[in-house]
Amino acid sequence: MEKKINQKNTFVSEEEKTLNWIEVQSSFEKNFGSEIYKSWLSNIVLLKEYNDFLILGVPTRFFRDWIVSRYLDKILELLKGFKLSLNRVEFKITEDLKNKSSDELSVGSVTEIKDSILNYNRLNPNLNFDSFVQGTSNEVALSYSKKICEQTTRYNPLYIYGGVGLGKTHLLNAIGLELQSDNKVMFISAERFMYHFIKSIKKNDMVNFKDFFRKSSIFIIDDIQFIRGKESLQEEFFHTFNSLIEKGSQIIISADRPPMKLDRVQERIKSRLSGGLIVDIDTPDLELKNKIIRKRLVDIQFQFKENIKISEEVINFISVESKTNIRELIGVLNRVIAFSRVHKKELTIADCKNILKDVFNQVKVITIDKIQNTVSNYFNIQLSEMLSQRRSRPLARPRQVAMYLSKKLTTRSLPEIGRRFANRDHTTVIHAVKTINRLSEKDSEMKKNIEQIKGLLIED
Ligand code: ADP
Ligand code: MG
Repeated sequence: MEKKINQKNTFVSEEEKTLNWIEVQSSFEKNFGSEIYKSWLSNIVLLKEYNDFLILGVPTRFFRDWIVSRYLDKILELLKGFKLSLNRVEFKITEDLKNKSSDELSVGSVTEIKDSILNYNRLNPNLNFDSFVQGTSNEVALSYSKKICEQTTRYNPLYIYGGVGLGKTHLLNAIGLELQSDNKVMFISAERFMYHFIKSIKKNDMVNFKDFFRKSSIFIIDDIQFIRGKESLQEEFFHTFNSLIEKGSQIIISADRPPMKLDRVQERIKSRLSGGLIVDIDTPDLELKNKIIRKRLVDIQFQFKENIKISEEVINFISVESKTNIRELIGVLNRVIAFSRVHKKELTIADCKNILKDVFNQVKVITIDKIQNTVSNYFNIQLSEMLSQRRSRPLARPRQVAMYLSKKLTTRSLPEIGRRFANRDHTTVIHAVKTINRLSEKDSEMKKNIEQIKGLLIED
């Protein structure tokens, strides 16, 4: 019996270790976004690696519960991308592992809230008004952000909304920087607000929490859409909001949509959020994108005394191709710059196409629906049959192929994919992925099928 357990859980020897934790962490950041990463996932450490499971360390019980309840599925999914043989992770509380007596309890709860907030409340000095490029899509938001700094509480709250990567956090941060010398500025994301809220409840320390957040004279809260569906958080936010307004503090809020479109948010909050001035940031036009690229090139030249040669043609190419948002645009530009540094030459459009192939291909959205349709067409079976419970091979294989491609080509989690295949369990999806992986390695027919279907999906 013991032998069996041992065999399964064999500790991987040094040479067999395959996980590069730094790479794993950076994939967490990419997939969950930097906010969640910074708040939660960056705190995970790899303690032990086994063939089929990992022991990960997290600082506290609270961290563990939070991470497990919200992010575990996706974490596991990402880890499997690095090591297919993994099937579970275990969390150990690292606080328990070290000697607690010295630092525990000596820190009062007030200081602890303060310390952790201070650690987080840092404004990024680079995200200021000077580095924010004005364009048609953001000029209204920019102009009112500046007005707020000249005369606070004229528009209260100031509510800035727009899609991802369009500059909301940048603007909020710029306002905070501008006002911080004369005011008590609090700059926090709604997710982080939630974190402190829950932590204070657990520690029975709401008095300090309320005190702390209501002290600021400028309260900036990023990504307020995060409160959707979280009743107790909304309750607390509502009271914080009211007491801040009452004492004459300025509130600045960002969101991914206008207040009235915040579903699962109390009416009274929506109406408070709409009570000041609402401005939006739109997707950038070509002119703004070109301006942002040129500015960055000039900045690099100035900062590093380095002359990066990028032709107008290439600038234009990047702007036209990069459609989604400014964050992506900057990412793309950074790759082009890195390439031109290494090769020390002026890039052509063909070079760029090559460098950016994967970036732009990723932008194409492939959905589970599309995969299901394409696969059933390809194998010439009815979609309803493919999704049915029947297990005959002519139906089961295409079904597995479709699950496999859903896993490979979309960002959906295993349970989600299972649900979309007539409510199957996620273990069925895992089995399908493994089976097709194996088959496509040794069966040239299967390999060809997969390639052709992928081609169909990417083409149209
Ligand atoms: P959001 O919060 O709306 O998702 P961010 O403020 O994080 O977007 O912006 C994404 C990236 O794009 C950041 O690096 C930011 O500095 C940059 N950025 C956005 N808008 C501009 C702009 N108008 N000028 C310069 N940089 C911008
Ligand atoms: Mg943001």
